[in-house]
Amino acid sequence: MIEQDVIIIGASASGLMCAIESGKRGRHVLVLDHARKPCGKILISGGGRCNFTNLDVSAENYLSHNPHFCKSALSRYTPWDIIALVEAHGISYHERSHGQLFCDDSARSIRDMLLAECQQAGVRLQMTTNIEHIEAIAHGFRIETNQGVYHCRSLAIASGGLSIPKLGATDFGYRLAQQFGLSVRPAVAGLVPFTWRHADKTRLAPLAGIAVDAVARTGQTSFRENVLFTHRGLSGPVILQLSSYWQPGEMVHIDLLPDVNLAMLLAERRQQASQQQLKTLLAQYLPKRLLAAIIAKACLEQTLASLSLKQCQEISEALHHWQVLPKSTEGFRKAEVTVGGVDTDALSSKTFECHDIKGLYFIGEVVDVTGWLGGYNFHWAWASGWCAGQYT
Ligand SMILES: Cc1cc2nc3c(=O)[nH]c(=O)nc-3n(C[C@H](O)[C@H](O)[C@H](O)COP(=O)(O)OP(=O)(O)OC[C@H]3O[C@@H](n4cnc5c(N)ncnc54)[C@H](O)[C@@H]3O)c2cc1C
Repeated sequence: MIEQDVIIIGASASGLMCAIESGKRGRHVLVLDHARKPCGKILISGGGRCNFTNLDVSAENYLSHNPHFCKSALSRYTPWDIIALVEAHGISYHERSHGQLFCDDSARSIRDMLLAECQQAGVRLQMTTNIEHIEAIAHGFRIETNQGVYHCRSLAIASGGLSIPKLGATDFGYRLAQQFGLSVRPAVAGLVPFTWRHADKTRLAPLAGIAVDAVARTGQTSFRENVLFTHRGLSGPVILQLSSYWQPGEMVHIDLLPDVNLAMLLAERRQQASQQQLKTLLAQYLPKRLLAAIIAKACLEQTLASLSLKQCQEISEALHHWQVLPKSTEGFRKAEVTVGGVDTDALSSKTFECHDIKGLYFIGEVVDVTGWLGGYNFHWAWASGWCAGQYT
């Protein structure tokens, strides 16, 4: 039997941040993970460059059943804190659009930074460890694994969500929460592409490769960024963002010309009796293949002068309010995050300890807090891990 002050399950962003902080406080910390190597998701994140935070982080960038839960942690561990750590390790980085910060070289430098900090704080990592059983005992927890039995006073669950199962994602954290009587909000794929319905596929799949700036909306939520057409459906940043809010069966409304008032433009040109064809005018704004998939060929070939007012309105409607009913999403196989997770009602927003189970903590993506695309999910992992590390 091995005695530890703190055991953390999950050797990635939130788990290692918690381990480092706890270790710095002089606690004996062991991190267990069933994967062969730590930080699997960090290495593939941000196209290999890890979008490790965002300059502008606030509660508005997160989805949760309790939108206030994340505020405390985000105010105590800010983007400047992770930037200071990154800079202390000599990692160069750059800002992309919307305040997103990426490593200049490779996501490996973020992994190396965490591992170096763990080493300095005396944290031990043990990989390829399957967790077989966990139970609460007097003053702590007993953990049975394929590598032996462990005791600890504090147990932090940092086992992430369900996205990318081939990287080792499991529902471990949710099952453990339920074992201890905590409720878990339904876990669904977020930041994930949509797939075409059969009826749309023949017409829209050939548009694969086209990317346009658009405003996309589902329900009351809208984002503006690029939409990317793929063979299987719709992707691109605006679609990924929207997917976290989308409910099956909901229509997605897309404004393909967010900077143009097309009804007014067509009305003006029509009055000027322009002999320009509609397709020539519209091709200044959108790819011809996309126009041909949305607007009837006969209409595209009409001159602007020959368009009726009703037609102008219909064309404007078709491009400003293009509607797509996705069949589904690509699911956890392609999702960047899981929406839902361990119900925040069960946790302290200050310590991340369960209100009713002393010594048990949940941090990172396993918790029902999900960030937008743009570095917000790593920031949540850092912030929740750092806060829990002050108490574990
Ligand atoms: C392709 C991709 C790209 C991404 N890019 C970005 C980005 O650029 N910026 C951003 O902010 N976010 C990004 N994300 C999201 C981000 O990676 C996660 O939100 C973040 O890694 C969550 O950290 P975590 O420590 O909570 O969980 P994870 O990083 O998922 O780590 C969980 C750990 O727990 C271990 N584990 C799971 N089950 C068990 C078990 N049963 N027993 C033992 N160990 C277990 C896993 O092996 C893993 O090491 C991306 C995600 C994906 C999939």
